[in-house]
Amino acid sequence: MECVLLGSGGMMPMHYRMLTALVVRLKGCNYLFDSGEGTQIGMKASKAGVKSLRVLAVTHLHADHCLGIPGVLMLRAQVENPGPLTIIGPPKIEQFITQTRETLDFTINYNIEFIEWSPDHSEIAYQDESLKILWAPLKHSTFCLGYRIEENHRPGRFLVEQAEKLGIPPGPLRGMLQRGQSIHLDDGTEIRSEQVMGEPRRGRCLAYVVDTEPTENVLRLCDRADMAFIEGMYLPDLEQEARIKQHMTIDDATRIAISANVHQAVLVHISPRYKASDLPELEKTAKSACEKAEMGIDLNRYHIPFPD
Ligand SMILES: [Zn+2]
Ligand SMILES: [Zn+2]
Repeated sequence: MECVLLGSGGMMPMHYRMLTALVVRLKGCNYLFDSGEGTQIGMKASKAGVKSLRVLAVTHLHADHCLGIPGVLMLRAQVENPGPLTIIGPPKIEQFITQTRETLDFTINYNIEFIEWSPDHSEIAYQDESLKILWAPLKHSTFCLGYRIEENHRPGRFLVEQAEKLGIPPGPLRGMLQRGQSIHLDDGTEIRSEQVMGEPRRGRCLAYVVDTEPTENVLRLCDRADMAFIEGMYLPDLEQEARIKQHMTIDDATRIAISANVHQAVLVHISPRYKASDLPELEKTAKSACEKAEMGIDLNRYHIPFPD
């Protein structure tokens, strides 16, 4: 599992900092979170691959999170048979994309399935053979969703000692057991997979929460995440401005990282008021509040190791 941060900025794309968008790569598939103006530039620069894009998850309908969608959809239409795409997001995401397509009259060569948030939808927005994407409403000036990505459980470890004890010879029989099948020994004894496999192990877990006040749902989404991408828009001296505009400061983000016990926090959606030369000060502020926190950097790749 790898994440590619296409951009780390908020509000407007700057020549030194693109808008916040995140690609999660797992087993050859890409899952994109947000798509503000210029996201397709980041997709190309990072070689993230639009054909393998399976899901686009949108947090909210503010320009810096959704105006890049048409470009990404058109970019994907340039490859042959790219396969279906699922778009998940807030109410009206389907209307926004459908109307934009009609107005701009662009064609795409794949199906789009829309999944819009509604109060009676389950907390799982999407799932496939590799992962689940959970969502929860945040608190922003317009309806905004935060996301949590949970990799499916992995099979437990093969218990070699147990296998020895049961007289299972090394070789293909052990492989069958590891794949969940039952086997028969030469004397006819049946051995079931669960007799020699440990407990299933949890997969990796990520969070993506931007454009919000600090809330309970932010904490829930980030809970013990292996890596959390959290909004840290302002230095702490602008806390009041952050409250008025319903955004989070670096202090808010690091407090959440600590309370939610995340393994690593990457702070994103940085205000355009901070120039590239301000980054060391932002980084110092984040690190001094929480050593597991760091400021996001455009096009950085983050490898997420297994928890065990
Ligand atoms: Zn924003
Ligand atoms: Zn916003």
